[in-house]
Amino acid sequence: MYDSVLIRYGEIGTKRDNRYIFEDQLLSNIRAALADLGEREYAKTYGRMYVELKGDQDLVVPRLQRVFGIVGISPARRAELQLDEIKQVAQAVFADARKKGKGPVSFKVEVRRPYKHFPLQSPQIAREVGGAVLEEADSEVSVDVHNPDIRVDIEVRAEGAYVYAQDFGGPGGLPVGTSGRGTLLLSGGIDSPVAGWMAMKRGVAISGVYFHSFPFTTDRAKEKVLDLAAVLARYSGRMDVHVVHFTDLQKAIYEHAPAKLGVTVMRRMMLRIAERIAQEEKSLALFTGESVGQVASQTLNSIAVTNAAANMPVLRPLIAMDKREIVDLAKQIGTYDISVRPYEDCCTLFVPKHPETKPRMEAVLRAEASFDFEALIADALSQTETIKMQPR
Ligand code: ATP
Ligand code: MG
Repeated sequence: MYDSVLIRYGEIGTKRDNRYIFEDQLLSNIRAALADLGEREYAKTYGRMYVELKGDQDLVVPRLQRVFGIVGISPARRAELQLDEIKQVAQAVFADARKKGKGPVSFKVEVRRPYKHFPLQSPQIAREVGGAVLEEADSEVSVDVHNPDIRVDIEVRAEGAYVYAQDFGGPGGLPVGTSGRGTLLLSGGIDSPVAGWMAMKRGVAISGVYFHSFPFTTDRAKEKVLDLAAVLARYSGRMDVHVVHFTDLQKAIYEHAPAKLGVTVMRRMMLRIAERIAQEEKSLALFTGESVGQVASQTLNSIAVTNAAANMPVLRPLIAMDKREIVDLAKQIGTYDISVRPYEDCCTLFVPKHPETKPRMEAVLRAEASFDFEALIADALSQTETIKMQPR
């Protein structure tokens, strides 16, 4: 039925001078999202993008719904620049949109005419085509120009008139890659994948750092993190995960730091390591899945003391969200079912029964001074493996 998809984008339009950077990135992200579905044509005109359909609307539309920067997705059908054909196509497009609802329905025809050589003007085309649609429709169909149930859009361009009446809606946000790179501390939990998704939504290209404490955490835990990264990659085209071997450092913390401070010291070590990796990959900020007050290590006190170990901004997209809101988002993104698989993460194993909710900086620094953590960090970094994940 449809031969192309018309894509509208939002916020990009407001970045006047850099507009082309945003548009180019969006187009390249759209191409990447559809690459494995076969060759097709892509076009960019009049502040919209067009993607050719090859009878594969059901595959293409869900993919586009994960490309940040897109706000509207409308399957369209092209008519030759000839009034009779435009009428026929509009009747078919309307009938298809109508099929989805039952009962009385109102519509209007909206015309744009960037191609000024077409002999009729927009209001005339709208009137003619509206009449044709009404003529062919049943008695429950009426015209309502102010608040129609269905809007039949016609865009008259040099190569044809594009007719569409549905909008599947896009995810909004900014194209991934237009806001620089960030490094996400990615655990197997519910929160950090959501934090990564939110950063991507604002255009940040994300790679993950996962702290693995084999054999205290099994390879199933690592697999889980990689599976999460593969889901996140659906939104960004790809995602690198740096797997840091954290066992020796974790053991040393357990041995040398007072039990109550173990988690705080561990988090600080994680930030230090993630920061080195971030610097290497020219990342501008770290991201975590922390939310204030969620657990002992996420009181404002703990966050403040942990934060001080990093020089780079540590951004926490979930900071003010309730667990329920985070869970809802995780389900929507597609990470939830993976996150709730039962494998322990490294932290649950070493977490004491009563972690300190108000760690004092001097006590933390004293604990850290009691062992050579720099050597252990260097060791962990040298053993880090990077795994490139593709969307799955
Ligand atoms: P999550 O669901 O993201 O694991 P959480 O509520 O379980 O979060 P914590 O386990 O306290 O919280 O971890 C807080 C944050 O620290 C995580 O959101 C994540 O960014 C980071 N983090 C924790 N453990 C790891 C790990 N093993 N590897 C990488 N990052 C981690
Ligand atoms: Mg966790």
